Amino acid sequence: MKSRAEGHAVVVGAGPAGLFAARVLADAYGRVTVVERDDPADEHRRGVPQSEHAHDFLARGYQIAEGWFPGVGDEMVAGGAHAGDIARDVRWVIGGSPLVKGDSGLTTVVSSRTFRERHLRARVEALPHVTVLGGRDVAGLSFSGDGSVVDGVLLGPDGAERLSADLVVDASGRGSRTPVWLEEHGYGRVEEEKLKVDVGYATRVVRAPADAFAGDVCINIVASPDSPRGGSCQRVEGDRVVVTLYGVLGDHPPTDVEGFNAFAKSLAAPDIHEILEVSEPLTEARRYRFPASLRRRYEQMGSFPRGLLLLGDAVCSLNPRYGQGMAFAALQALALQDHLQEEGEGLEAGAYFQRLAGQAVDPVWGMTLLSDLSFPGVQGERTPETLQVLDIVGRTQIAATLDGSLALSCLRVFGLIDPPTALMDPAVQERVHETLTRRPAHAGSGTEGNSETDRGN
Ligand SMILES: Cc1cc2nc3c(=O)[nH]c(=O)nc-3n(C[C@H](O)[C@H](O)[C@H](O)COP(=O)(O)OP(=O)(O)OC[C@H]3O[C@@H](n4cnc5c(N)ncnc54)[C@H](O)[C@@H]3O)c2cc1C
Repeated sequence: MKSRAEGHAVVVGAGPAGLFAARVLADAYGRVTVVERDDPADEHRRGVPQSEHAHDFLARGYQIAEGWFPGVGDEMVAGGAHAGDIARDVRWVIGGSPLVKGDSGLTTVVSSRTFRERHLRARVEALPHVTVLGGRDVAGLSFSGDGSVVDGVLLGPDGAERLSADLVVDASGRGSRTPVWLEEHGYGRVEEEKLKVDVGYATRVVRAPADAFAGDVCINIVASPDSPRGGSCQRVEGDRVVVTLYGVLGDHPPTDVEGFNAFAKSLAAPDIHEILEVSEPLTEARRYRFPASLRRRYEQMGSFPRGLLLLGDAVCSLNPRYGQGMAFAALQALALQDHLQEEGEGLEAGAYFQRLAGQAVDPVWGMTLLSDLSFPGVQGERTPETLQVLDIVGRTQIAATLDGSLALSCLRVFGLIDPPTALMDPAVQERVHETLTRRPAHAGSGTEGNSETDRGN
């Protein structure tokens, strides 16, 4: 049997998950080809209609990416992105009150999604043995004669051209066609779990005076059950500001200037509206509708072909309000990197990998669902334990608007640095109790039940 060093890995999709996968595969496989349907150089690609909306890169994602591509953050800053500490330079407003600021030692680099992806892609393209094949569509998977192994991909438009591979990684995003292709080859249909949230986004790019941000790189006004509208205002490259507004369960922001500004004014704090008031609009507002968080349970399939893995939104697409998608893709690629270092064939036996990757997916998926369930209109089971956790998280967030150490604890969980269970730590909860007991009567917002991770974008 061929060693991986003699082998060829094909990645479908050059979004964040595909780029991260290519980075880790390049250490093990002799050749890596990333096949991307769009022209990767396009400003906003058809395959990623969400790219116009504010995209935060959570602290854990940034750490992982810096490990793979040392200095990429500095390169982005040199190109006009804005770096800052997640606790000192990002203004977080929860329940109408700002989180107490401080130093976390954790960096965020704020830019447009397209700009970030361009920098990551350039690093991937510079790797030896990696080719990014733009403008080519994967129209199907190629199976071995007995159908037990995926041994390549079929290139579009008609699937007549075959690209052979020792490993195929599907990172083609939420619209991945692997469920259909597996079913056509007798593997049955993968189970899907969904949580309907009906989030609507509207985003406009504006130019604002730099001092309007009072030194911050980003402002996040977080939606809560009491005020279920949120927004994010990010200083990005090119001296521009991306203003994204959102509402849940059908309460979507309008795109006309008046309606957009009125929606911004209705948020729990005035910060974003104040920026809009001193800004010059540069683009029309664009919409995006996200119906439901979605998880495909490949790890539970009874049979699964060898030679195929899936990563990123192709497996699990999370409510974007929490800004987790790209960091989440990095965490899954990290699991891939760990298992590439293992001997034997475990990795190429895709079901095995999907079970292992599930361990990276489970906590983030659980955290997102729990946070969404804090909104009474979201349909889903709320056990007494769920309600208790939501209450604890809500109280912790209120206390974080009064206490810097608790703000830091919350931000480390938001940034996927610490697991959500960190907030349940008895020492943290004791501090929450003390903080809320001695708070002045007017402080805190009464937003018990807030989501724990809502990014405001
Ligand atoms: C409105 C909105 C706001 C968001 N905000 C954030 C945020 O703040 N922070 C964050 O981290 N995440 C955010 N997300 C989530 C983030 O966009 C996704 O999680 C992330 O893009 C997933 O990356 P991916 O590589 O798995 O998929 P994608 O980014 O969707 O990339 C898939 C790629 O595959 C290509 N492709 C598809 N089919 C084929 C095919 N058959 N052949 C070849 N190529 C193909 C597509 O062209 C595309 O380039 C947001 C999402 C939305 C909708």
